[in-house]
Amino acid sequence: MKLDLPREEVFSLLKRLSDSVGPSGNEGSVRELVIDEMRRVADELRVDTLGNVVAVKKGTRGGGKLMLAAHMDEIGLFVSHIDERGFLRILPIGGVPERSLVYQRVLIKTRDGRIYRGVIGLKPPHVIKPEELRQVPEMKEFFVDIGASSREEVLSMGVRVGDIAVFDRELSVLTGDRVTGKAIDDRVGLAVMLKSFEVIESAELDVYAVATVQEEVGLKGAEVAAYSITPDVALALDVTIASDFPGVSEHEWCTQLGKGPAIKVADGRSASGLIAHPEIVKMLVKTAEESGIPYQMEVLAGGTTDASVIALNKEGVPAGVISIPSRYIHSPVEVIDLKDVLNAIKLTKAFAEKTTHEWVSSLKERRIK
Ligand SMILES: [Zn+2]
Repeated sequence: MKLDLPREEVFSLLKRLSDSVGPSGNEGSVRELVIDEMRRVADELRVDTLGNVVAVKKGTRGGGKLMLAAHMDEIGLFVSHIDERGFLRILPIGGVPERSLVYQRVLIKTRDGRIYRGVIGLKPPHVIKPEELRQVPEMKEFFVDIGASSREEVLSMGVRVGDIAVFDRELSVLTGDRVTGKAIDDRVGLAVMLKSFEVIESAELDVYAVATVQEEVGLKGAEVAAYSITPDVALALDVTIASDFPGVSEHEWCTQLGKGPAIKVADGRSASGLIAHPEIVKMLVKTAEESGIPYQMEVLAGGTTDASVIALNKEGVPAGVISIPSRYIHSPVEVIDLKDVLNAIKLTKAFAEKTTHEWVSSLKERRIK
């Protein structure tokens, strides 16, 4: 199978998505980009009450529903307090590791859409105890300096308690196919979904591509989207951990960059994770092998994706995940390999085109007697 997508086109889409400001619950600017992309290719397009974007492409033998899901939101910060001297205090949105905040630049977005730059300052090494130098501060100790000198000045800029912030970092090429940026989790999954949805030509089932909200704060958007769509089969597109760097033993790498998209077998811990439907895992492996797409198997110790809640929708949905290996997840320096992205697009397209009514009904409730 030939992939007619220039690498530059995928990079530029990913850059627009990754550079947008869209923490959980405030995905508006990402949603606009998604709608712009989907408008050209979807047969139906809607935004639901929570803010999920649902795009539908009619199948050649419609009736069944394949749901693809990728989340629009990123981790971020709330402005929780503005002090008399104009410094902002913050609280996390989603899983923000304290150490990812040290000396960062952030973008603050006000409720009327203004964007300001801020820095997360810390006491210089000269004035702290040597043992403090080796410690990561607690969330409540961090503050953001936006250059203002008083609370009045902050308020006159339009910044209020409840406004949001994200890392200030533009997607950039390291070398070759390796790129780095913020919010690659999960704007890369979004890029894979948008591009594969665009190139799907002859799927039997109707394909529902859903750009979800509030994944980082508990898979919330996917839960209501699955309820309203009632998919027959589902695939989430998200990042997974690639710890193939110094200091991590080989058995803990999970995946490696550039070795192909990962086919998830399981993730999370007991109640909160996913055990992918074994027939979907088999079908993804078969599809990858028949199409000559490199892939790796993924058994992830922690974390999960939208597929976990979609699988539990109503009477149950056979669900799986195609993952894009990513280093340094939930930081401003996430790193991926564009080859994995292009191959994930190919695999998603091939899976959608291979999914038949017959196969899907073989996965569903059967009467025994
Ligand atoms: Zn994610």
